[in-house]
Amino acid sequence: MKLINFKWQQLILGLGCLLLMIACKSFYPTTNSDVKPLKVATDPTFVPFEIQTASGNLEGFDIDLMNALAQPAAGLTLSLSKGIAKVAGFAVQFESLPFDGMISTLQAKRVDAAISGITITAERLKTIAFSRPYFKAGLAIAVREDNQNIKDFKSLQGKKIAVQIGSTGADFAKTIPNAKISTFNSGPEFFQDLLNGNVDAVVSDAFATLYAIKNGKLKGIKVVADLLTQEYYGIATPKDSPYLDAINKGIATLLSNGTYKQIYQKWFNAEPPQLPDSWP
Ligand code: GLN
Repeated sequence: MKLINFKWQQLILGLGCLLLMIACKSFYPTTNSDVKPLKVATDPTFVPFEIQTASGNLEGFDIDLMNALAQPAAGLTLSLSKGIAKVAGFAVQFESLPFDGMISTLQAKRVDAAISGITITAERLKTIAFSRPYFKAGLAIAVREDNQNIKDFKSLQGKKIAVQIGSTGADFAKTIPNAKISTFNSGPEFFQDLLNGNVDAVVSDAFATLYAIKNGKLKGIKVVADLLTQEYYGIATPKDSPYLDAINKGIATLLSNGTYKQIYQKWFNAEPPQLPDSWP
């Protein structure tokens, strides 16, 4: 009888522990392993926003920003199943994709989001959604260092211009009268064409080009001082994404708690400019 009593006590104790564990799990914030990782597309050829290191790791301004958003400190709240909202850090799973295919991949909902220096435009907003602006950018003209003729939009007329397929630079180049446009998949390719003398100028994102020149990665090329456009980058998601609200709140938190400034200074060694809360 004594032996049986002892077993009952063990059983009750065991059940009690089990109940306590279940209760704890539903009261406390979930850990990364409880939440399915957010699949985020990026094209790691856009220095210094997304870079693939020799060992295959991703780094860059956008990568740091996305990883910071995924920290619980950013206040990101993901709505989980059964309508329960939990504050949770979540894992980000980056997926490398060519820039040109990013919008259609988002549209087809094959990824949850994309961060790749993507400019918010009215045209793109017809098919996908964007977060609030997270980076102030703009297009610039890049030419070979010895070029003295190309200084502004007007001097691009009738010239041979290289652009990246599907980029805002490519859209802009279409507005230049009589320009002969060559399209390329990514920055390293169009700058090579410029250095080879096959084209007269490149129209692309100013910050990426300026960064590459400053860090000695792009020799023999200069950027014309005046920007051609003012643009803002946003994190792109499919339309009606359940994550967009959380991403926007997370960006607001990173802007107000100093994390954004830290990331900006790490990559650009400068004070970040003021960002609007919404686009345009
Ligand atoms: N900002 C440009 C665009 O959205 C180019 C971005 C990129 O090459 N990653 O079109």
